[in-house]
Amino acid sequence: MAPEHFDVLIMGAGLSGIDAAHHLQKLCPNKSYVILEQRDRMGGTWDLFRYPGVRSDSDMLTMGYSFRPWTSPKAISPGDDIRDYISATAHDEGLDRNIRFRHQIKRAAWSSAEARWTVQAVRKLPDGREEPVALTCNFLFSCAGYYRYSGGYTPEFPDIDVFQGRVVHPQAWPQDLDYSGKRMVIIGSGATAVTLVPALAKTAGHVTMLQRSPTYIISMPEQDTKANWLRSVLPAMWAYRLSRWKNVGFMIYLYQLSQRFPNFIKDGLLKKVREELGPDYDVATHFTPRYKPWEQRLCLVPDSDLFQAIKSGRAGVATGEIETFTGNGIRLKSGEELHADIIVTATGLVMQTFGGIELSVDGRDIDPGETLAYKGVMMSGVPNLASVFGYINASWTLKADLICNYVCRLLNFMDSKGLRQVTPMNRGEQAAAPFVENFSSGYMQRALTKWPKQGSKPPWRVHQNYIRDTITLKWTPVDDGALEFSNPLETSPKLAPRELAQAAK
Ligand SMILES: Cc1cc2nc3c(=O)[nH]c(=O)nc-3n(C[C@H](O)[C@H](O)[C@H](O)COP(=O)(O)OP(=O)(O)OC[C@H]3O[C@@H](n4cnc5c(N)ncnc54)[C@H](O)[C@@H]3O)c2cc1C
Repeated sequence: MAPEHFDVLIMGAGLSGIDAAHHLQKLCPNKSYVILEQRDRMGGTWDLFRYPGVRSDSDMLTMGYSFRPWTSPKAISPGDDIRDYISATAHDEGLDRNIRFRHQIKRAAWSSAEARWTVQAVRKLPDGREEPVALTCNFLFSCAGYYRYSGGYTPEFPDIDVFQGRVVHPQAWPQDLDYSGKRMVIIGSGATAVTLVPALAKTAGHVTMLQRSPTYIISMPEQDTKANWLRSVLPAMWAYRLSRWKNVGFMIYLYQLSQRFPNFIKDGLLKKVREELGPDYDVATHFTPRYKPWEQRLCLVPDSDLFQAIKSGRAGVATGEIETFTGNGIRLKSGEELHADIIVTATGLVMQTFGGIELSVDGRDIDPGETLAYKGVMMSGVPNLASVFGYINASWTLKADLICNYVCRLLNFMDSKGLRQVTPMNRGEQAAAPFVENFSSGYMQRALTKWPKQGSKPPWRVHQNYIRDTITLKWTPVDDGALEFSNPLETSPKLAPRELAQAAK
């Protein structure tokens, strides 16, 4: 029996997968599509992460979808509310009818002769058994996020087995973990650690955030009063659009200022921390990073909650390198001992491309690290495949929306010309930079060799700039010379779109 066929197959039912389905349904209403999701529920990141206090660290006015207003008064939002927003979007638009849960994609193989992908997945049955499933599609849209779901990253700590308490990773938070009155050490200083510290400090005996080196931290109000006021006087969508542009503008301004005047921004950020923690606090040791602002993601804390926890004495920061775990906790190279009942390794994610699947084109295995990224959306030499990777200096969804819109434009362009295959062709462009530039986060550095590279000029550049991407993805003609269109109906050499359209008639 021939495998079931769809025009588009979306991998993943997270924030981006639902975004992709919305765009397809609206802009390409005649296309059939299916979403394969490896888990039992949608929401991706916002369903997987369940540690105490889990929340966004960018504002939801830019992290919400362009087409659905974020109406909660909280702009920095708890994870549950984000999950509900994604589910409500899928439900209200009937997108959830097209999701097949418990389907993990393992590999996808492109055949130019047929102009289609054959996608191999494994379906988990209710009794725990697994069975293989094969589907075909004309276009594969990866919305599988950027990290491994099966487990987070934990460095090899010496003597971790000697520790007599419990070690927990935030990616697999045990829901029955009782930490009331307990001494806790959180290893890490990224977004997860700074979220966990104030949330745990409410009931734990004491919480220490142990960091090798500090991160830039900025406090913002949990509620955006201007956005809430706009919502009280304007229709929800108008208020949302205005607030969204206000925040996009502010983010671009802050990022550009950080790039041009890093020392000025650094001084401003550290001054704020000193004001929060008072003149006696050792800001130089614990809150002064070694890198320039935005070389790693800026950590946002709502209503100064981290600083409040430190001031209350319920939480503290230790800066130093771990020498070893001990029976009672951790010993630092400085000789300092941190006693703990529970240690949380907020040490990051394991990044992966395309949901960890194997890709091949006409029998040739594809190593994404050997390709060039086309507009940050497709890969050189790989036909009919797009993927979402959002911003690292702004909300993920801003770029996800643009990419989803672009994919629909591309599909509609191909339909209008009677074309079935599109391949970004690298004609002599050299790899000039990693997929994400000037970003020193450990988890990025560990992974970027396996990601597509950037070239030195458009369309082979990957921007971290919403305005530039809006121009590149929304307003630049689809047929830009770097995309090669072909059609298996034709056995002749590759033709330009106009000639192909005539041939297809
Ligand atoms: C703790 C945390 C906090 C974050 N906070 C923010 C923030 O405040 N602002 C921001 O902009 N970004 C944030 N991010 C980044 C965040 O991942 C994005 O905002 C967004 O959730 C990504 O959505 P996505 O749908 O692209 O990927 P994901 O949320 O990762 O969803 C991917 C989906 O694909 C599925 N999938 C993966 N592989 C396969 C496969 N092989 N087969 C089938 N299904 C598969 C997964 O199960 C999942 O459901 C955060 C990330 C983390 C981990």
